[in-house]
Amino acid sequence: MFLVFFDLGGKKLAAMGRLFIEDAKGEKVLICRGCRVDSASYDDIESKEFQGRYGRAYLFRKVVNIVIGSSEERILSSGFHVVNDIYCSSCMQLVGWRYERAEEESQKYKEGMFILEKERMEKKGG
Ligand SMILES: [Zn+2]
Repeated sequence: MFLVFFDLGGKKLAAMGRLFIEDAKGEKVLICRGCRVDSASYDDIESKEFQGRYGRAYLFRKVVNIVIGSSEERILSSGFHVVNDIYCSSCMQLVGWRYERAEEESQKYKEGMFILEKERMEKKGG
């Protein structure tokens, strides 16, 4: 894995991993609504009971074809967190966020996991 830094609208983004399009493993996959590349496999879903900016959101242990924005402190319904917005690496649409750090002990399991907004996604397969 390597990191690539570039600017998008004044925000510094780090693109993690390889820059070509990666397939999500598994039969049922969420794809980006904007450009239809794979975003995550249902095999890696942790919870479907999350609230995003645009309604229902899913928590994933792993995502693909995503770039990570800068760290921001944010108060969410579950307390204080450090999060990074995440963008589709293909079309640069905002698709959710990553939990970098959670303050509450009960929320620490989310660290390193990713929220994908259902509104920005479509289902493929399954
Ligand atoms: Zn996209």
